[in-house]
Amino acid sequence: MTAKDKKSKSFMKSFLKTIITVVAVLLVIMIVLQCVGFGALFGLYEPKRTGKYADELESYGVFDNTYDEALPQTVIYKIIMDHFNAPLAEGKTVKKAIFLGFDGFRADGIKNIKDDPESAIMYVKSLGGLYHTFAGGIKGEREQHTSTAPGWCSMLTGGWAEYHGISNNGMSKNDKETCLTALAKQGHASSFTVSWREHTSVSYKPDIQLAIKNGLPVEYNHEIDDMATYYQVLKYVSKPADARKTAAEDPDMIFFTFEFTDHAGHFFGFGNNKNYYNATLDANKYGYDIIKTIESRSTYAQEDWLIVISTDHGGTGHNHGGQSIMERSTWLAINKKLDITPDLLTFENK
Ligand SMILES: [Zn+2]
Repeated sequence: MTAKDKKSKSFMKSFLKTIITVVAVLLVIMIVLQCVGFGALFGLYEPKRTGKYADELESYGVFDNTYDEALPQTVIYKIIMDHFNAPLAEGKTVKKAIFLGFDGFRADGIKNIKDDPESAIMYVKSLGGLYHTFAGGIKGEREQHTSTAPGWCSMLTGGWAEYHGISNNGMSKNDKETCLTALAKQGHASSFTVSWREHTSVSYKPDIQLAIKNGLPVEYNHEIDDMATYYQVLKYVSKPADARKTAAEDPDMIFFTFEFTDHAGHFFGFGNNKNYYNATLDANKYGYDIIKTIESRSTYAQEDWLIVISTDHGGTGHNHGGQSIMERSTWLAINKKLDITPDLLTFENK
């Protein structure tokens, strides 16, 4: 072997060594990022103090019940039905309701908007209240995944999975009625507007078929994204002077979901990375605009509106579905004050 060969061999050796070291370092970085969430890239870490998570939520000073008095998310069905079944207040001629769903809006995302009176959540709280709620069923008894399909279905039907048939994503609901179907049967035009495909292709397929075959006044819309959802809902709620709208164009009950936060959570991590932070602001900005459009309706003075905003689940890392406090803790903003009775604390359709 010549001196030149020796030199080239030792160069190859050290080159390979460098490559192996670089790959190993990259692997370690990938593993660390996977554990702490990619939010770490932006200098903002997800809180890992799960034991103190409830204390952290309480420290914002914006909730109108204690964490220990968290309501089951199933109460939303009861609140909506009670609103329509209660007698009309003096001077009002019609009941209306809108349920704004912010998918995967983790409870600690509230701190991002708590000082902004022009955020949907804080504005609605100023009219009524903001309450701790929980997803995932009754712990140790009737648990269900803290996932999208079971979460919304529990809010819309008033029961947990045993009642409505959806314990995880990928399942279709049984024949238990949502508030939309129940209200449509009472003659109230209702609407359901979403962009997550599974809602219309799987979970609510039986309800959609039932509504079409029986001529029930519930309109199900599958939109391509959040902006399309926003425009559709804006179309429902806007009512300039002299506008002529049919009942279907001006539904009494409106339900829709925004995916801003869920998408950001799955991609960048649920928590306080920059993208998730921006998603919490977007949901609130467009939600606020919808609520202000309602208040500018030409017929608003004669209408009794119930406005509720909630989320289906929290999240941890890049996912959700489990029973951790960060996944189970949810919240409810409502434009009417709630009386936290034992009835509400334990409400569920069985
Ligand atoms: Zn979801």
